[in-house]
Amino acid sequence: MNLLLIPERILNKHMSNYADQTLKCEDCSKDFIFTAGEQEFFDKKGFSQQPKRCPDCRSARKHNKGGGGGGGRSAGGPRGDKPKFPATCSRCGVGFEAPFQPKPDRPVFCRDCFKSGAK
Ligand SMILES: [Zn+2]
Ligand SMILES: [Zn+2]
Repeated sequence: MNLLLIPERILNKHMSNYADQTLKCEDCSKDFIFTAGEQEFFDKKGFSQQPKRCPDCRSARKHNKGGGGGGGRSAGGPRGDKPKFPATCSRCGVGFEAPFQPKPDRPVFCRDCFKSGAK
């Protein structure tokens, strides 16, 4: 498990040998253990601070921060945010929005004409 905490660098570097510490979570006020191993890890990473939140709240926060509400559908390209291009149907002359840049040398068809088999 990776601990990703934003280093706030409260200079507090007196601990040379590590022992488990009980800390209180800033969010839920629950006690949690800041283990010797974690302390060493923190120190190696140069985080001279103690975690302020219990692991539960930490992972909850991480979740909230990265997600943006639900799906990883921003990068992969499924429909929704595609640009639209104004186009004129080559068959019926209606204006519509094409999901691609219409090429002047190629006919484009509105949805209806496309559905009814214009090619
Ligand atoms: Zn908590
Ligand atoms: Zn048409």
